[in-house]
Amino acid sequence: MNNMNEQTTNATTPLPREGQGGGASHIRCLIIGAGPAGYTAAIYAGRANLSPVLYEGIQPGGQLTQTTEVENFPGYPEGVQGFDMMEDIRRQAERFGCEMRQGVAVKTDLSQRPYHVWFDDETEVTADAIIIATGAKAKYLGLKDEEEYNGKGVSACATCDGFFYRKKTVAVVGGGDTACEEASYLAQLASKVYLIVRKPYLRATQIMQDRVLNNPKIEVLFEHNTEGLFGADKLEGAHVVYRRGESDERRYDIQIDGFFLAIGHKPNSDIFRPWVKTDETGYILVEGDSPRTGVPGVFAAGDVADPHYRQAVIAAGSGAKAAIEAERYLATL
Ligand code: NDP
Repeated sequence: MNNMNEQTTNATTPLPREGQGGGASHIRCLIIGAGPAGYTAAIYAGRANLSPVLYEGIQPGGQLTQTTEVENFPGYPEGVQGFDMMEDIRRQAERFGCEMRQGVAVKTDLSQRPYHVWFDDETEVTADAIIIATGAKAKYLGLKDEEEYNGKGVSACATCDGFFYRKKTVAVVGGGDTACEEASYLAQLASKVYLIVRKPYLRATQIMQDRVLNNPKIEVLFEHNTEGLFGADKLEGAHVVYRRGESDERRYDIQIDGFFLAIGHKPNSDIFRPWVKTDETGYILVEGDSPRTGVPGVFAAGDVADPHYRQAVIAAGSGAKAAIEAERYLATL
């Protein structure tokens, strides 16, 4: 669950191999990614004496460091700031001997063991077991205003932030299952939900569509696009356009307190794709309920392999599973 999209840099860039660039250091259990999945894997791997090394990428703590308060992670009855929670889990991992290193993985060779991973500073490491916990990144529309109001009304996770919009007006962007699910969820809390859909129809499954279309609190704005957001200190509304480019095009504003993106996620899996199987979106395919990728000793945990739940607690659980599997695998070597 971290922001490691940037690690999907040119996978064909020639980088020094062992012996060419000063030699690779060898790691028994390498964990890539610093969200709940990676840190939890580190706790388990550390306690199992696997001498784990975790590379934190460009956003230590992952997506949760971008949210404000986390209220649904067990163990924090009063809630906790996302940043503080990740710092707690990180310290817990360090306590059991996990070495934290900075660096974004940019290329891998998982064709044979020991596996090779290159990082952005041209460091090369080899590893016997790898836990991929690089997360996924919510897609944004690309508006400058989305950055300005991030944390002040803009969110990509209704389950995380919906609670703060009780009895308020919010908008959800997207026409797929996620958007319909988030709109229905938010309708339980907010007084009104706009669903902003760029096409004249929803892409979501019929049952999800029915739920949205029959909910009196949800108003679907078909054939609408968002062109900007506004508000003094926090979000107060969105500039929308109906049928952009058509003869009946119409621009107007809607008053909203929250703006939720639900236009899909991009898993940070590109650098592993030559070796591990993914679905068409890029989510790493694992064997059944296990974190096994099909490459012996290479496991995937958290959002990079989870198109469905995308929750911190579930990512943490899958990180634990990956470390347990890594322990079993390393015992066979
Ligand atoms: P999808 O890719 O299915 O849908 C994305 C939606 O966002 C589409 O309506 C798309 O519009 C719209 N969109 C994309 N880019 C933009 C943009 N720039 N501006 C405006 N709108 C945009 O993603 P989901 O996250 O909804 O779903 C991913 C997968 O997860 C799907 O397979 C889904 O079925 C599954 N899922 C299942 C759930 C369940 O079963 N309970 C819950 C959630 C997800 P357009 O149609 O025009 O391309």
